[in-house]
Amino acid sequence: MKKYNKVSPELLAELEAALGKENVQTEPEVLDRYKTDEETDPKMFHLPEAVVRPASAEETAAVVKLCNKYDVPITVRGGGTSLADGAIPVCGGLVLLTERMNKILEMNTDGLYMIAEAGVRTVDIQKKANEAGYLYAGDPCSAESCLIGGNLATNAGGNKAVRYGVTRNQVYSLEVVTPTGEIVEVGSRLKKCSTGYCMEQLIMGSEGTLGIITKATLKLLPLPPYRLDLLAIFDDPAKALDMVPLIAKAGINPTSIEYMDNSYVRGTSEYIEFKDPPYKENGIYVIVTLETFNEDELDMKMEQLSSLCEEAGAIDVLEADDRIWAMRRNCQESVRLISLISLTDDVVVPVDKIADTIKYIMKIGEKYPFPVPAKINAHIGDGNLHIVLCKGELSDKEWEENVHAFHEEVYEYAYAQGGRLAGEHGIGAKKLGYMAEFTPAAELDLMKKIKLAWDPKLILNPGKIFEC
Ligand SMILES: Cc1cc2nc3c(=O)[nH]c(=O)nc-3n(C[C@H](O)[C@H](O)[C@H](O)COP(=O)(O)OP(=O)(O)OC[C@H]3O[C@@H](n4cnc5c(N)ncnc54)[C@H](O)[C@@H]3O)c2cc1C
Repeated sequence: MKKYNKVSPELLAELEAALGKENVQTEPEVLDRYKTDEETDPKMFHLPEAVVRPASAEETAAVVKLCNKYDVPITVRGGGTSLADGAIPVCGGLVLLTERMNKILEMNTDGLYMIAEAGVRTVDIQKKANEAGYLYAGDPCSAESCLIGGNLATNAGGNKAVRYGVTRNQVYSLEVVTPTGEIVEVGSRLKKCSTGYCMEQLIMGSEGTLGIITKATLKLLPLPPYRLDLLAIFDDPAKALDMVPLIAKAGINPTSIEYMDNSYVRGTSEYIEFKDPPYKENGIYVIVTLETFNEDELDMKMEQLSSLCEEAGAIDVLEADDRIWAMRRNCQESVRLISLISLTDDVVVPVDKIADTIKYIMKIGEKYPFPVPAKINAHIGDGNLHIVLCKGELSDKEWEENVHAFHEEVYEYAYAQGGRLAGEHGIGAKKLGYMAEFTPAAELDLMKKIKLAWDPKLILNPGKIFEC
């Protein structure tokens, strides 16, 4: 890994001149706040040397230019909800916060778009659109705490991807500060465009390594007025899993199909203290959301879906209320009740392979000594599963060896199905080794060449995705 210069008094003085003294911080208690994101293992923590808060693309560009001049790395941080160690400053240097770029600049319901700065909370974008009768379709479970810039940088997925796609499908254009400090607008507010490379799509999912996103023009859709959440409860995971391809083929076009294994059903209901009916102690939950523009269509689809679930062997099929979504949204947080240290995987496989992949993971999971067997929740309708492993009382050595052996088995299986390491959380610093192991050499080489061409001094987010 490249050796960088330390943050010097000269750099700090120039940063203060550019941003104002109050927006450049080096107090130990401030630095301590940014040594980790959602990472729970202290071994992965890294302190930054300074934290900066630019208020605009121009100020961001000034910071980037100074870091090129002084050869100091920058890690961009949005809401810090990364599950891949993406916001941890693994090489020290600066953490750049986007939180002061927090304005929704325009909402245009004739043109169906919204322009927002990178530091706006995702939930505020969703609410603003909804209040006017429109939909911003990006919907990660962390929407209350993540920022739109972080969603764009990780190409976040979430609960509506089955119908609307992931974050990259919700975007017209981006304003980006390049790794050398230029401000560029990539993409355009067009339905179609074949005018050179699709740069905005390259930025999305680049996890802060190719540019700092400062502003985005997001797509809006008409908000379907009719919505229904259906909960199908199973007592056999195989039956629940085998139903998913049937829904996909039925022409129902659901917005979400979410899966919670029994360990999650018990864990999250305890975490959010919700054990009223329809709670079932041995239940496995599949939540399906339908949205339509016509009430009759909703009724028809609901009947079709209910019959499908019953034929597949559901022990209960009922209309669900928001509490079911509260359970689903709290899956990640509920793990804290079991273990202070845990990790979340984000494997993605083709949709027709997800049932077999989950069954395989459940089978191999039995032989590992984790305090609870691998917990699985999944955006099952788009092939993306989250496996949570808990450390509990295992020693560091036992934890590391078993996690590694488990990952090798799971990733080999997933790649054999045509899958990948990450469906929505990114690679960050967490899966660097596996990225190198599982990505074809020629593909990895192309990625490294792009990184070096854009960021010759490796200033932006080094130590993420791959090592150069
Ligand atoms: C409870 C919980 C539930 C979650 N559910 C989902 C889910 O359903 N779907 C999903 O996809 N993810 C989910 N996540 C993961 C996480 O919320 C997403 O990865 C999210 O997109 C990160 O946004 P953030 O603002 O917190 O970014 P951060 O964590 O701050 O940063 C993430 C990465 O993006 C880079 N970055 C941030 N802002 C910018 C910017 N403006 N320009 C360039 N790079 C930038 C960072 O350097 C880092 O590499 C969940 C996390 C938690 C804790």
